[in-house]
Amino acid sequence: MYDVIIIGAGPAGMTAALYASRSNLSVLMIERGAPGGQMNNTAEVENYPGFESIMGPELAFKMYEGAIKFGVENAYGIVQGINDQGSFKEVVTEDKTYQGKTVIIATGCVHRKLGVKGEEEFAGRGVSYCAVCDGAFFRNKRLIVVGGGDSAVEEAIYLTQFASEVTIVHRRDELRAQKIIQDRAFGNEKVTFIWDSVVEEILGNDMVVTGVQIKNVQTGEVTEEAAGGVFIYVGLDPLTEPFKASNITNEAGWILTNDQMETAIPGVYAVGDVREKGLRQITTAVGDGSIAGQQVFDFIESQKDIETVQ
Ligand code: FAD
Ligand code: NAP
Repeated sequence: MYDVIIIGAGPAGMTAALYASRSNLSVLMIERGAPGGQMNNTAEVENYPGFESIMGPELAFKMYEGAIKFGVENAYGIVQGINDQGSFKEVVTEDKTYQGKTVIIATGCVHRKLGVKGEEEFAGRGVSYCAVCDGAFFRNKRLIVVGGGDSAVEEAIYLTQFASEVTIVHRRDELRAQKIIQDRAFGNEKVTFIWDSVVEEILGNDMVVTGVQIKNVQTGEVTEEAAGGVFIYVGLDPLTEPFKASNITNEAGWILTNDQMETAIPGVYAVGDVREKGLRQITTAVGDGSIAGQQVFDFIESQKDIETVQ
């Protein structure tokens, strides 16, 4: 039986692991991929204190090295659900069940699909959700980026180092991205915009993407734009399917917690992007992780007191 089982090794989970293991608790961290979470798909991080600028995968590696220093145990696994057994919890993966006195859910979220014709067909053949992973395959090509948030605009700028032109297609005439990121895009001569427009279909030949069909939502006009690749950044969906049965999510699927990161189940915490919250950032993820990492210690101590009284 572990003191703490952490599900997910993004910045939130890794920080919770660091804090809990430094309190001398036995910690198991279960991850379905490489540690780092969304940081592995991020080009440059410029808003993590202490680093003027750092590549996402490098920050992920540094955090991981720090997180496991105090004896955290790692396991590969895709968590399917948790069972509350009162004094302990079970965490179920595809082939194993682990027991823990407490659980910290840190599964984050995943890019949303656009849901248009051609998206699935050309995934990996010109359709991408990760500029860091795939950008270099598109040297001297025109690229389309869909979305108007921080991810779309920041990754569009990143892609200009490879592409001949990067065109952001946004459904409104105003970006959602932070002002500083917007200003950089407006000042980059390789970045162009198609406003008030949605991508209706991703076009291609037998092999690769050749362009997109776009509709102007104001005029209804439909046009085709040639492009060698399409990068989609239209928001995020929480990775909470395994916890739906536990009744700790809201209607949209985000996990509800208080400011101590406690869910409705005593001993079960949620941290980082997976929570219903206002600002989804690396800094807020590590903040959540540190709070939960400390809270589990207090919770386990309080359970000992209850046992002594009984
Ligand atoms: P995640 O990073 O999503 O990590 C969750 C982890 O849980 C993943 O490793 C996942 O594999 C694992 N997991 C999920 N489900 C399961 C399961 N069932 N079983 C086992 N493991 C599971 N923020 C900034 O502050 N600055 C930036 O510059 C910045 N740039 C960004 C650029 C992009 C393109 C994107 C998409 C995001 C960016 N962000 C940035 C946001 C930031 O990356 C996130 O807020 C942060 O990573 C959230 O951390 P997390 O630990 O909560 O979740
Ligand atoms: P987001 O902020 O939710 O933005 C999604 C964008 O996609 C919005 O502009 C939205 O348009 C558009 N969109 C949504 N559905 C669409 C559809 N079906 N068709 C066309 N467009 C659609 O998502 P995000 O940019 O991925 O950011 C997620 C979180 O990560 C945010 O909290 C963000 O701050 C954070 N992040 C931070 C940084 C940083 O700090 N440097 C970098 C990246 C991400 P509308 O604007 O019209 O709604």
